[in-house]
Amino acid sequence: MSHTARTSSAFGGMGPEMIGQVLTRASSSTYPAWWARVTASGYCAHPIHLTRQDTAGTSLIYARCKNRRTAVCPSCSDLYAGDTWHLVHAGLGGSDTVPATVADHPAVFATLTAPGFGAVHSTRADETGASRPCHLGPARTCRHRRAASCALVHRDDDERLGQPLCADCYDYTGHVLTIWHTPALWDRFTRTLRRLLRAEHGAGIRVSFVKVVEMQTRIIPHIHSVIRLDAATRTGTPTPPAKAISGEQLSVLVQRAAASVHLDVLAPGGEVRTLRFGNQIDTQILADTTGATDSAVLGRKVAGYLAKYVTKSVADAGLAPHRINPAAIDHLAVSDHVRTLLHTIVNLSEEIPEYAAMVTWLHTLGYRGHITTKSRRYSTTMGALRAVRAAYEQAAAARHRSIRGDAETESGDAADTEWAFTRAGHKSAGERYLAVTAALKHREGLWAARQLGDTSSPLVQFTHGDTDVGGGR
Ligand SMILES: [Zn+2]
Ligand SMILES: [Zn+2]
Ligand SMILES: [Zn+2]
Repeated sequence: MSHTARTSSAFGGMGPEMIGQVLTRASSSTYPAWWARVTASGYCAHPIHLTRQDTAGTSLIYARCKNRRTAVCPSCSDLYAGDTWHLVHAGLGGSDTVPATVADHPAVFATLTAPGFGAVHSTRADETGASRPCHLGPARTCRHRRAASCALVHRDDDERLGQPLCADCYDYTGHVLTIWHTPALWDRFTRTLRRLLRAEHGAGIRVSFVKVVEMQTRIIPHIHSVIRLDAATRTGTPTPPAKAISGEQLSVLVQRAAASVHLDVLAPGGEVRTLRFGNQIDTQILADTTGATDSAVLGRKVAGYLAKYVTKSVADAGLAPHRINPAAIDHLAVSDHVRTLLHTIVNLSEEIPEYAAMVTWLHTLGYRGHITTKSRRYSTTMGALRAVRAAYEQAAAARHRSIRGDAETESGDAADTEWAFTRAGHKSAGERYLAVTAALKHREGLWAARQLGDTSSPLVQFTHGDTDVGGGR
C-alpha cells in the first residue's frame, strides 16, 4: 500500500471542514509554537499533551502516543519498527551488548505459513515477477453455483483481495481454529526443533529466535522468524555451538520440524481436527560456520522485513484495537470475510466451552499471541533499546540547553519539574492531517537511508526530536 493510500484510508480523505481546519491552524499566530511541539513529538498523530511546570514557568509539551500501528500513528509505528530492526539485527550482527561473533552462528530466516481453507482472490506473480491471473481452475462453478475460478489480475488495492471465491465453500471453522491455536503450533514447532537437534547433533545446543507475526490479506497469521543456534552455556552472552552445524543442516531440521508439527483440537459436533502449518515453509540460510553466506547483508535485509511486518495489524482489516461487542458485528465497517470470521468466533465460543474466551478476542480475530516475541538470549530487549534512546535524548537535550545557555542546565534534575496530563490527540482532524503528512514525508527519508545500508545511527535517526517523557503505549 502506498503512503497516500494509507493516509487517505486511515484519515478519511479531506473534506471542506478539514481543509478549513488546516488553513485556520496554518494561518494562526500560534502556528510556529504549535509546529515546534509537533516536530518535537516526532510528528506523532495522537500526542499526549503535557503541561510542564518548573522554576522557569509553564510550558506545553507533546509526548509520543507510542502506538505500534501505522494506521493509528505512522511516526510512533516507525519508532517501534526501528526498535524491532535493532532487536533483530543485534542478534545477527552484534551490538553493544551482543558479541559480533553471533554473525557466525548457524542461522536461518524461516517463514511458517498457515494452510489454505479455500480459494481466495489474490495477487500472484511468476518467477520473473510478472503478474498472473488470480485463480485459474478447471471447474467453472462450485456446488453453490458460484464461479470457481477468477481470471482477473487484481490491483493491490482491490477490495476483493483475501476474500474467498465462495464463502460457502470456505472452511471458516478451520480458519478460526488455526488463528486461535497458532501460538500453540509455534510452541510445538520450537520444541520439535530442539528435539530433532538433540537427536541429530547431541546436547549442548541452544535454539535462540525472534519471531514476528504478520496477518495476511486473508486474515491469517504467518510467522516470520530468525532462528539461530548457540552453545547452551549458562552465561547470558551467546557463543557459537561447539559442534559445527551448517546453515543447510539447520535449514533441513527447521523444515522437518515445521512439516511434522500437528495439534489435535476440538471442533464443532464433538469432532477433533488436526491443525498444521501450511506446506509452503520457506527457509533462507542467513549464516553458517563455513562463512559461505554474506551474513551482514542478509541480516540487514531480514531485520528490515521484520521491522515492516510489526507495523501492520488487524487494524488494517478495519477493526479498532479494543474489545468488540458481538451484537455490534453486523454494524461494523468490515469486509464480508472479516464479518464471517467474527461470527464464526462467536459461534465457536458459544458451542464449545473450551473456546468460551474466544469471544473476548474478536478485535484480534482470535489471535492471542504477541506480535513480536524472542527467546531470552536472542539479543537485546525493547526495554534496553528504549533506555539507550532515553539516555541519548537526555544527553542531547542537556547539550542543547547548554548551547542556548539556559538556566535549566543548573537545576538539571527533575525534582522541581512537575508534569500534568492535559489531553491526548490533536485538537482537530486538520491538525492531525498536518502532523501525519509531515510524518510520512520524514519516514520516506528514513527508509531510504536504511535501504542504502546506512546503519550508522538508525536509533538516532528514528528518534528525531522525540520527547519521551512517559505516558502512552
Ligand atoms: Zn504517536
Ligand atoms: Zn480474483
Ligand atoms: Zn461454493
